[in-house]
Amino acid sequence: MGFAPFQYMATAIEEARLNHKASSDHPVGAAIEYKDGIIAKGGNRCHQDQDPTAHAEIVVIREAGRIVGRKNLRYCTLYVTCEPCPMCAWAIVTARLWHVYYGVSRIVVEEVLCVPDEFRTQKTESKKILYSGDHVVGCTPDCHLAGCLELLRLCTRRPLGDLNPFKNIGNYWNLESECE
Ligand SMILES: [Zn+2]
Repeated sequence: MGFAPFQYMATAIEEARLNHKASSDHPVGAAIEYKDGIIAKGGNRCHQDQDPTAHAEIVVIREAGRIVGRKNLRYCTLYVTCEPCPMCAWAIVTARLWHVYYGVSRIVVEEVLCVPDEFRTQKTESKKILYSGDHVVGCTPDCHLAGCLELLRLCTRRPLGDLNPFKNIGNYWNLESECE
């Protein structure tokens, strides 16, 4: 299982890339794994569908529900290229997903997209666990980080040299992707 998360995330990255090429949606991709296979994959479709809730996570959760024939996605694992926003985090818990692997943290995304300070996520350490009532979803950040960071280059005109302003986070561009 050592490289499986990396490979599943590669599918999410490819979805983000394809989707971004076909539309002007942000390059965020996701995939859901169940029983060692991908049952749903897709990208952010907010612009294409004129639907502000069509984040990549929501797109694949809906598709996975149709595939497995139930609303409960227990034993399914979600891979997404960016850390889920609060809307998606809640959907993930509600769907009873087993685990979430994500690539780039929201703090980094906001930095790259030059989100104004007043709209940024609180600069505290990301929660590694999402929970509601008796259900807990484990989270693993930084999965296939290099590939996920590459996606951010698709949505900024800032030159590569300027894309490493994360002095407090470290030199992400040189990190080898890894996740267990
Ligand atoms: Zn979201």
